Amino acid sequence: MTDALMRDAARQTKWILIALVAGAIAGIAINLSKGALPWLETVLVDVVFRLLGDVFRNALMLLVVPLVFFSLTGGVASLRNLGELGRVGGRTLALYLVTTVIAVSMALALALFLEPGADVDQATVAFVPPAPPPPLLDQIIGMVPTNPVQALATMNMLQIIVFSILLGTAILMAGEPGQRVRAIVDDIGQVVMKLVTIVMLFAPVGVFALLARAIADLGFDQIVKLIQYFLLVLGALLLQLVVVFPLMLRTVGGLDPRPWLRKMREVWLYAFSTSSSNATLPVTLRVVEQRLGASNRVASFTIPLGATVNMNGTAIMQGIACVFIAQLYGIDLTLEQLLTVVGMATVAAIGTAGVPSAGIVMLAAVLSQVGLPVDGIALILAVDRLLDMTRTVVNVSGDAAVSIIVARREGELDLETYRSA
Ligand code: ASP
Repeated sequence: MTDALMRDAARQTKWILIALVAGAIAGIAINLSKGALPWLETVLVDVVFRLLGDVFRNALMLLVVPLVFFSLTGGVASLRNLGELGRVGGRTLALYLVTTVIAVSMALALALFLEPGADVDQATVAFVPPAPPPPLLDQIIGMVPTNPVQALATMNMLQIIVFSILLGTAILMAGEPGQRVRAIVDDIGQVVMKLVTIVMLFAPVGVFALLARAIADLGFDQIVKLIQYFLLVLGALLLQLVVVFPLMLRTVGGLDPRPWLRKMREVWLYAFSTSSSNATLPVTLRVVEQRLGASNRVASFTIPLGATVNMNGTAIMQGIACVFIAQLYGIDLTLEQLLTVVGMATVAAIGTAGVPSAGIVMLAAVLSQVGLPVDGIALILAVDRLLDMTRTVVNVSGDAAVSIIVARREGELDLETYRSA
C-alpha cells in the first residue's frame, strides 16, 4: 500500500471516529432531553438525521449486489484451477463453521453459568406455543436460483453467491473465451471499487446521522431492566472479538493478531453505525485487501461469502437469548435442546441476512425449533438495537479473521502489508 493511500485511510478513519463520537453525544443529548422541545427533536431525528443516515446506508447497500457479484465471480475465475477452488472454499467454509460453533457454545456456557434470566420479572411475558419449524429443506433448495436476474434484483444473497461461484467456475473452465470474460469482469470490478470510494467520501456525515438517530431512540430504561442479559451478550461478543479471533489468528494462522486488531477499527466503525454486514462489506473488503494484505483472489471470495453466511455475533446473541428465555419461563434445557441450539443457531446465522435486526427475526426460528416460547422475543427486542450494532462488529470481524487465515495458509498474504503501521 502506498504512503498516500495509507494517509488517506488514516485521515478517513479519524473523521469517522470524530463523527461517531459526535453522533453519540448528539443522540444522548436528544435522548435525555426527550419531550423538552418536541418539534426540534422531530426535525432533527425524523428529518435531518433520517435523511442523511438513510441516504448513506442506501448508498452503501447499492454497492452490495455489484460488489458481491463482480468480486466473487472474478475471485473464483482468478483461481488457478478447480482444485484450488475446492481447497480455498473448503477451508473457508470449515473455518466459518468452526468460529460459529465456538461462538454459540461459548455463549451457551456463559449463559448457563451466569443465569441472566433467573430473577427477571416474567409476569409481563405471556406464553405462546412455538410456531412450526421452518422448512430447512426448502431453504436449501431455494439457494439455487431459477432466475439469476431475479436473485440480483431482489438481493437474495445466498442465490447470488451460488450463481457467482458457478459463473466464475464456468469462466475458469472456458479457456480463451473465459479469459476474455474474466478481463471484463475484473474491469467492472475495478470500476465498482471506485464507486465504493465515492460513497465513502460521505461516511463521516452518514455515520454521524445514523448513530445520533439510533441513540436518540434508545430506551435506556429498558436496558436497565434487562441489564444482565444486555451485559452478558456484550461480554460474550467482546470475548469473541478480542480473545477468540486473535487466538485463532495466532494458532491457526501463525500471525501476530495486533495488526489485525489495529486495522480492523475502521471496519468496526462502519459495522457499528450501520448495523449491517452487507453495508459494511465494501469497507471490509478494502481493509482486508489493502491494509491487511490478503490477495484479491482470496479476499474477493471469502469476504462476500462471509458477509452472507458467517455471523458469529448473531449466533452469540441467539445462544444467550435461548437460555435467557428458557430461564425466564422456568424451563430447564435438556442436553438435547442445548445441542439443538448450537445446531440451529449455526444454521440460522447462515440464513440471517446481513441487514439490521435480521438476527432477532431468525431467533424465532431457533426458539421454535428448540421448543421454547417465541413470545420471549418481545422482551429482548426492546434492547436489541445496541446489541445489533455490536454483534455486527463481531460478524464482520469473523469474516476478516477467517479471510486472513485462509490467505496466510494459501501463501496469499503479503506479510509486509499485514505488519505495516
Ligand atoms: N445486523 C447483523 C448483521 O448485519 C445481523 C443481525 O441482525 O444479527 O450482521
